[in-house]
Amino acid sequence: MHKRILVVLPHPDDEAFGLSGTLAKQISSGAQVTYACLTLGEMGRNMGIPPFANRVTLPEIRKKELQESCAAIGIQDLRMMGFHDKTIEFEDQDLLDSRIMDLIQELRPSLIFTFYPGYSVHPDHDATGAAVVRVVGSLPEQERPKVLCLAFSRNCQEVLGYPDVTQDVSEFLEAKMKSIQSHRSQFQAAELLGSKTLKDKEIIDRFGNEKFWTYKFD
Ligand SMILES: [Zn+2]
Repeated sequence: MHKRILVVLPHPDDEAFGLSGTLAKQISSGAQVTYACLTLGEMGRNMGIPPFANRVTLPEIRKKELQESCAAIGIQDLRMMGFHDKTIEFEDQDLLDSRIMDLIQELRPSLIFTFYPGYSVHPDHDATGAAVVRVVGSLPEQERPKVLCLAFSRNCQEVLGYPDVTQDVSEFLEAKMKSIQSHRSQFQAAELLGSKTLKDKEIIDRFGNEKFWTYKFD
């Protein structure tokens, strides 16, 4: 059981498909979750279907969507870190690392969720994961929180093996779907469900498990 969990991801909506069910589950068993979202995803191409956002309004819209998603999951502490979308890989590494280190020292999490560096498709995802493992790896071994990573590059299972942590979130699909639905400038969550309900086997098979790789520091 983890009392304090830190989530470090670069974009509003990164939490929705990959780990919103896991977070809702952990929170329901008493965990305190802090979600450090590095950017507002303000360079995103999606403006809603039909479009209701534009370049100027998108950051504010995505901020509200993120808050709504966090409320759906039950996340108690959302930190919007103010970095710029699509530039995490070019950020001053010392600044990025020190902001993450500050969070770890303040919160003392026993578990951190992030992306697996090198296997997470988007450069912001990889750069975020790389920063987290750099910072955690700099701590003495006995002080390191466990790091669980999301990965979805095509070769990730080939190289990393099968994910070693699977969370059954079938009882938390309502929170998960609400989290996905919150990001309406990005997805049409209703289309995911179609005529199906959260009790349908197809939906449970598709969304009911969340998988992670434990980052190995040696
Ligand atoms: Zn993302």
